[in-house]
Amino acid sequence: MTELKNRIKAANKIVIKVGTSTVTHPNGKPNIMLIERLVRVISNLVNQGRHVVLVTSGAIGVGRAKMGQDHKPASIPEKQALAAIGQVNLMYIYSKLFSEYGQTAAQVLLTRDVLDNGVREQNTINTFNTLLLQYNSIPIVNENDTVSTEQIEFGDNDTLSAMVAALIRADLLILLSDIDGLYDKDPKNSADARFIPTVYGITDEIVSMCGGTNGNLGTGGMKTKIEAARICIDAGVPMVIANGDDPENINRIISGQELGTLFVPHRKED
Ligand code: ADP
Repeated sequence: MTELKNRIKAANKIVIKVGTSTVTHPNGKPNIMLIERLVRVISNLVNQGRHVVLVTSGAIGVGRAKMGQDHKPASIPEKQALAAIGQVNLMYIYSKLFSEYGQTAAQVLLTRDVLDNGVREQNTINTFNTLLLQYNSIPIVNENDTVSTEQIEFGDNDTLSAMVAALIRADLLILLSDIDGLYDKDPKNSADARFIPTVYGITDEIVSMCGGTNGNLGTGGMKTKIEAARICIDAGVPMVIANGDDPENINRIISGQELGTLFVPHRKED
């Protein structure tokens, strides 16, 4: 465990995923205060010499707010269209705030199938490496919702972020959610839910603890976060689920504090 803690402290390539409920208000409008604090923390990590990929949800909510739509989009094409509208706005906010801290943001829109295809997979790795190592920029990733609906339908980018972490051989994946981590049952439904600080493998017992989401806009709940953990554990990437209500939690995790739920990976072979 000490060795893993030291690996996390020394993490050079970090993937951070923020859920819809973290970056948007319940009405879908961007949570500017929170995004600003998140950008400040990430900018500081980059200034320390680390490389950070940000996977962000929230485009549909922002698109919905922009169109003045007060109800949740019903159909998938409607969600795809609102994502296309919201993505521009969300990227504008990130790009503007990162520039204020002297950083360069880059937009990367991915579909899951790209990551199973040899040539495209290599193209994607090349782009990430160039963005991170040559240009020292911050890739901001989302599903390309115009052509793919997997993360819209189930996942809210949880599994996409794990696939990215595995692809670029990240040292750490942090999933920021609206909850402190994994409990033995959904604490929103059960007051006696027990917190689980460390998970060593995705057993049937762990899977049975996980429910979907109660959120107005988040889509994956704990189910898809556990699927993300499975990908990370196999790829040798430590993963932490923590509360996104305070982006400083990222610094606390990296400094070795016990915070959130840590999923201990299999040993990375390289
Ligand atoms: P995000 O948008 O941050 O990804 P989600 O709504 O998709 O958020 O997922 C987090 C939600 O998962 C929590 O708010 C909680 O209601 C739900 N959940 C279901 N089962 C569990 C569990 N066993 N432990 C913690 N949270 C759970």
